[in-house]
Amino acid sequence: MVKKTKAKTKHTRTKRARPARSTARGGAPTARTAPPAAAASGTERDLKARLARGPVICAEGYVFELERRGYLQAGAFVPEVIFEHPEVVEQLHLDFVHAGSDVTQALTYYVHREKLRVIGREKDLAPMNRAALRIAKSVARRTGTLFAGDLCNTNIYDPGDPAAVREVARIFAEQVGWAVEAGVDFFIAETFSWAGEALLALEAIKRYSKVPAVVTLAVHKDPDMRDGLSPVEACVRLEAAGADVVGLNCHRGPSTIMPFLKEIRAAVRCHVAGLPVPYRTTPEQPSFVSLTDPCCGNARAFPVGLDPFVCTRDEIAQFGREAYALGVRYLGVCCGAGPHHIRALAESLGRHPPASKYSVDMSKHAFFGTHERIKQIQRDYRPKL
Ligand SMILES: [Zn+2]
Repeated sequence: MVKKTKAKTKHTRTKRARPARSTARGGAPTARTAPPAAAASGTERDLKARLARGPVICAEGYVFELERRGYLQAGAFVPEVIFEHPEVVEQLHLDFVHAGSDVTQALTYYVHREKLRVIGREKDLAPMNRAALRIAKSVARRTGTLFAGDLCNTNIYDPGDPAAVREVARIFAEQVGWAVEAGVDFFIAETFSWAGEALLALEAIKRYSKVPAVVTLAVHKDPDMRDGLSPVEACVRLEAAGADVVGLNCHRGPSTIMPFLKEIRAAVRCHVAGLPVPYRTTPEQPSFVSLTDPCCGNARAFPVGLDPFVCTRDEIAQFGREAYALGVRYLGVCCGAGPHHIRALAESLGRHPPASKYSVDMSKHAFFGTHERIKQIQRDYRPKL
């Protein structure tokens, strides 16, 4: 039986984030000068209080975005960039906050003992976790965003192997320990395709911390969890075991995650999370891993050929509106998300993050503009563009 611990409920509603210091030379924000926190999101460090007031946006998919930027290798997907270029990780956190994320999630995804064993860096386990937590905490505290710890799929879970289950529990316990030491505001346990593994992660969070737990499952092409439960049943069990927010992240795009979110919303009482990948998945190929590209001999597009399937900002905005109308309040975008997706999601929920200053305005466009200085000769040329 998982012990239920009471989450911190002290409201600090009167607290305000310090305004961002302006850059001395008046340039664009740098890693040293944080963007201001999204005003609508509040600044208290209580996830549940924020959810009670409205949506909470969480940018995920750091590993994919760092791969795209050239700082991480697709395949192992271990963020060694934490040591090699901590300033890049910090800037990515800041970019997502600037675009509207209410959460700064420590980049400890795949910084667990098993993954570091695979790449031969097990000795770096504790320092790498602590470094990732330090970077995220620094950004969270400067921006008034929530500071989240992160646990994820271990890739060794096997319900029929007691030694493997013990090792998974050890992996979660040690990562929870480093995150508690860093003072996280809540935990995200994510991307589990085994319900049993998700329950183990939740158990570690409840046992070794006093902060809320968001647990999200990932549904592959196979619509069930690998231990046979439906995602809905798995979420019901997670709620019963003390999760504060349950739901889905990763693998499925907006259109193929939505049917599950509807069922989950109807089946649980707690808050629900929905963080799809920003790819155009289909009923035949419902996960981004299953997508094949007709332009490339129907080869599997995952992981570095997914560009033709990327959702537009409008598609992400539509997902945001639909999911929120359904009652899903913890919203985000996972692997493949760029800051433009997060801004589109934030704006779909009525937010105006700092990046909205640069949201599209075609009124002054050279051909399509309506501004009085746009010459008729330019407008007349539109059909030939
Ligand atoms: Zn993902």
